[in-house]
Amino acid sequence: MLQLSIPLNFLGVMYRELRQALTDIERMFGLLHVNQEVADAPSASALPPGAATLRFDAVRFAYDPKRPILRGISFEVPAGHTVAVVGHSGAGKSTLARLLYRFYDVSDGAIRINGMDIRGLTQSSLRAAIGIVPQDTVLFNDTLYYNIHYGRPDASREEVEAAAAAAQLGDFVARLPDGYDTRVGERGLKLSGGEKQRVAIARALLKNPAILIFDEATSALDSKTEKAIQAQLEQAAAGRTALVIAHRLSTVMKADEIIVLDQGEIVERGSHAALLAAGGHYARMWALQQQEAHDDR
Ligand code: ADP
Ligand code: MG
Repeated sequence: MLQLSIPLNFLGVMYRELRQALTDIERMFGLLHVNQEVADAPSASALPPGAATLRFDAVRFAYDPKRPILRGISFEVPAGHTVAVVGHSGAGKSTLARLLYRFYDVSDGAIRINGMDIRGLTQSSLRAAIGIVPQDTVLFNDTLYYNIHYGRPDASREEVEAAAAAAQLGDFVARLPDGYDTRVGERGLKLSGGEKQRVAIARALLKNPAILIFDEATSALDSKTEKAIQAQLEQAAAGRTALVIAHRLSTVMKADEIIVLDQGEIVERGSHAALLAAGGHYARMWALQQQEAHDDR
């Protein structure tokens, strides 16, 4: 009896570990309980490495056919440029990132990289070209080092530490008794929202991808840390194709173009100065946030 119960127990532990790892990946994109039907096309080709121009062409999408989320979105992020997407919660901003990473396929229209429809690319080459700092970072039940190194498994110790420093994690790690070997995640040290966000930023900086997506990447940080990281993010985005999704408008002022999304439609687009001058949606959001910042002081 004893002989039998030990391996069964062991299998139970293995099963839980595996399920946890899968859950981590799914939660990273809020995909829990979602059926995935995205697969490589038989003729899929690898995206050649190098500079990437990103295009959304009349993209429509609905999670549930009865409720359209994106209603014909078109914009381009030329290679090396930064485009920001702003808008109220629920407008469809994170959905843009999920579609680009091909967690779902568009219902109509297309997303292209250097003119190639992403449905014709291998998922591995597509995902290798994109670094995402998601809205909610879920950590693996492993060490802090593993969690950052995961961004680029062939990176050296020095590169991992440089990425952590750039993400303002250096002092935090230095204060931990086990440093980078500290276990984190559900069954380890619980990191704050801001600390998790900095791990995700370190991961993305280490990955060094052609396309960077920041999805409210600094929303959980206090304004002092945000300021310190903002410079690193701008530096990381320089020379790359970057899509910056933001609620806090102070982080998107320098974008080459700002797109205002409202209920799945682009209602305004232009530079920060042009949008302020236009006196529409963006200008009202800006005025409101200036007021809030003032009230906080
Ligand atoms: P934003 O990032 O602008 O706040 P999202 O793109 O996350 O907005 O969500 C847009 C809309 O799609 C919201 O109304 C949200 O409730 C809905 N939504 C998001 N994810 C799912 C999902 N997996 N299934 C069904 N509806 C979803
Ligand atoms: Mg979002």
